Amino acid sequence: MSKKYVYLFSEGNANMRELLGGKGANLAEMTNIGLPVPQGFTITTEACTQYYEDGQKINDGIQAEIMEYITKLEGITGKKFGDLENPLLVSVRSGARASMPGMMDTILNLGLNEDVVDVLAKKSGNPRWAWDCYRRFIQMYSDVVMEVGKKYFEQLIDQMKEARGVTQDVELTADDLKELAGQFKAEYKSKIGADFPTDPKEQLMGAIKAVFRSWDNPRANVYRRDNDIPYSWGTAVNVQSMAFGNMGADCGTGVAFTRNPATGEKKLFGEFLTNAQGEDVVAGIRTPMPISEMSEKFPEAFAQFEKVCKILEDHYHDMQDMEFTVENGKLYMLQTRNGKRTPAAALKIACDLVDEGMIDEKQAVAMIDPRTLDTLLHPQFDGEVLKKTPVIGSALAASPGAACGKVVFSAEDAKAWAERGEKVVLVRLETSPEDIEGMKAAQGILTVRGGMTSHAAVVARGMGKCCVSGCGAIKMDEENKQFELSGKTFHEGDWLSIDGSTGKIYDGAIPTVDASIGGEFGRVMGWADQYRRLKVRTNADTPHDAAQARKFGAEGIGLCRTEHMFFDADRIPAIRRMICSDTVEQREAALAVLEPMQQSDFEGIYEAMEGLPVTIRFLDPPLHEFVPTEEADIELLAKDMGKSVAEIKAIIAGLHEFNPMMGHRGCRLAVTYPEIAAMQTRAVIKAALNVQAKHPEWTMVPEIMIPLVGEVKELAYVKKVVVETADAIIKEAGSNMKYLVGTMIEIPRAALTADEIAKQADFFSFGTNDLTQMTFGFSRDDAGKFLDAYYDKKIYENDPFAKLDQTGVGKLVDMACKMGRATNPELHLGVCGEHGGDPSSVEFFHRTGLDYVSCSPFRVPIARLAAAQAAIKDEK
Ligand code: PEP
Ligand code: MG
Repeated sequence: MSKKYVYLFSEGNANMRELLGGKGANLAEMTNIGLPVPQGFTITTEACTQYYEDGQKINDGIQAEIMEYITKLEGITGKKFGDLENPLLVSVRSGARASMPGMMDTILNLGLNEDVVDVLAKKSGNPRWAWDCYRRFIQMYSDVVMEVGKKYFEQLIDQMKEARGVTQDVELTADDLKELAGQFKAEYKSKIGADFPTDPKEQLMGAIKAVFRSWDNPRANVYRRDNDIPYSWGTAVNVQSMAFGNMGADCGTGVAFTRNPATGEKKLFGEFLTNAQGEDVVAGIRTPMPISEMSEKFPEAFAQFEKVCKILEDHYHDMQDMEFTVENGKLYMLQTRNGKRTPAAALKIACDLVDEGMIDEKQAVAMIDPRTLDTLLHPQFDGEVLKKTPVIGSALAASPGAACGKVVFSAEDAKAWAERGEKVVLVRLETSPEDIEGMKAAQGILTVRGGMTSHAAVVARGMGKCCVSGCGAIKMDEENKQFELSGKTFHEGDWLSIDGSTGKIYDGAIPTVDASIGGEFGRVMGWADQYRRLKVRTNADTPHDAAQARKFGAEGIGLCRTEHMFFDADRIPAIRRMICSDTVEQREAALAVLEPMQQSDFEGIYEAMEGLPVTIRFLDPPLHEFVPTEEADIELLAKDMGKSVAEIKAIIAGLHEFNPMMGHRGCRLAVTYPEIAAMQTRAVIKAALNVQAKHPEWTMVPEIMIPLVGEVKELAYVKKVVVETADAIIKEAGSNMKYLVGTMIEIPRAALTADEIAKQADFFSFGTNDLTQMTFGFSRDDAGKFLDAYYDKKIYENDPFAKLDQTGVGKLVDMACKMGRATNPELHLGVCGEHGGDPSSVEFFHRTGLDYVSCSPFRVPIARLAAAQAAIKDEK
């Protein structure tokens, strides 16, 4: 049997979203439960896919099937397409599987031409309405199908209103509207070079094509990427007989939510506009009345509508967002869907629905989008000021939250300005570990270069600090402390506002409001924790971040990047001395200075984590990141080491690498300088022994993690250094403390030889940042420059550094888990790349059987919820 591409509303149901799209499935469901729905049919998402496969054509078979359903619809309604007795008019609307409000196109009043409009005018005795429909249709069709552009038509309407001395569309008479329709058609002909189509079938196919085409429009593509909606899904098209809200004073159209989508309050929320069609409410040409007023003006229709709201909520067990029309006092439902809501409203509604007995706790957990939790935890812009402030650029939404401050160009300035009480936004070409203190001091960070796992992005997320990265449109002049964006030059001290949740950049100061977490947050999180199997740890490098993560429910630290501790002003001289040493003895002397500092850092972190597991990763970045770049600092170092400036410069030059990310870093440092690993081991073990002594009730089991391993022998070599050092200290202390030595799996070769590596490792932690970089073969810092071209060309749909590439990188993860467990059944498995806080990646890690995910503190709640949702989905 050949594929069925068209379904009457009476043939579908709510479970057919994939095929019928959300709108189509819900129109079918409303039909089934007996609600007043103008009848129609849905052309499936598969027809959309077929349209693209056929080179953007609706093939003859599908066209014939559509016309067959027009005949069926004529039978149902008793009206006929293009008929001069009783003409059928339809709306044509998009409807994807996941709702994408405002992203795609709609056409109303289709089926009209000069003859049909005359019939309608005469038969209804309401020529004004008939001509209003026709001029609207020409306008929408020209805009949506032929892409003429709305503005020409709006200008003609404005001219007509001016000529008639009126201000509102509804004040135009039938004759005015008829004249306008004529003008619109002339405009169409002048732009398109052909007459406006009169054949309803031609109009219909044009409209359906336009909806299919709108699936691929730029705003839909961006929306899909932001909301994890695959391009392959396609959109369905709904063809529905028209109900008319523009027939007179006893008609109207409205949009309403069963609960307040901003606060979650259980109270009907929406707007209604008399004598109007749907797009008037959205367009804001006239001010609609609040829905409560409808109860006075349309008491009967309102009473019906309230009933429908109750039926729909009871049926869908969720807050509904509905569109409806009142035609001569009678209510028609045009759409219902689970309403979009603010994160705060989402939590309140979920809790209320549980309390009302509408859903259970599991359903409450499943209905909240984990990605939105971020915004509850960070400051946001004041909505009113935001609306009035121009957007001057946008880039990657690298770390959520809102920031407003004066522009500064260096980390030192950020620190100095903040110390004297100024709020600053740090604008940099890119950030390096040296900038950490400046980043801490700033309200937010904006960078010209860098992707989602660039230094700025990772560090900012760790701090819970707003960051917008990779804004290539900025022309930077760091030397003269100025940059250019959107035609304006910004100097040091100018106000700038950035939104790390949207990636938008604003000219000027927008006040921020602090985040507030209500009781519902804790309730939902508590439920989530009952269902998840994955543990959730955090990536934290300081006691402060660790404590923050504990508050958000972290169950340990999955990654402590020790290098971040070396950049403090009191430590950097010692690390520089270590790097510039000529002999092992000199190096050990410098390391001896660092050791107590590291040890006290670790003690602080252990204390903050209250006995929970802490994985400490040994030194990872290339050493050149630590050496001075400023002349004065070089001179200082030379003096400190008793060397000449030239000698120091020669050492620094010697550290230069063509490809530092693949250079002398990770465990390669420990292989060349085992004394570094020995020092770090001493600091880890001594700190754990001290904390254990203070807290006998805790069981301290420090976890030492060796980065960037690609060969089992290099892990074995470093591990030997660790074990010999650790065992000696533990023995000397008369303790029997256990410790673990594991490795990151972040080089493809490590994944490919995971069976061998597992024999030497107590745990694997997947470093999916580097693993993605090395599997794709492109740099995590530079990919932002070309990824946009890949999105445009549909080669990639998402940033693989933000959302795990399950097909490629995921295969390596899965394989490494299986191979690792085969040779070491006790192997503990986790992930500490940025993907550990991305919901769809968390679902993958759950399915793959990892024991935990680790992510930055502010993403811990997201990961907890996503892990619970993955477990709930798995049960089904
Ligand atoms: C990784 O590579 O995924 C990782 C966590 O390490 P880093 O980001 O520090 O390279
Ligand atoms: Mg790494």
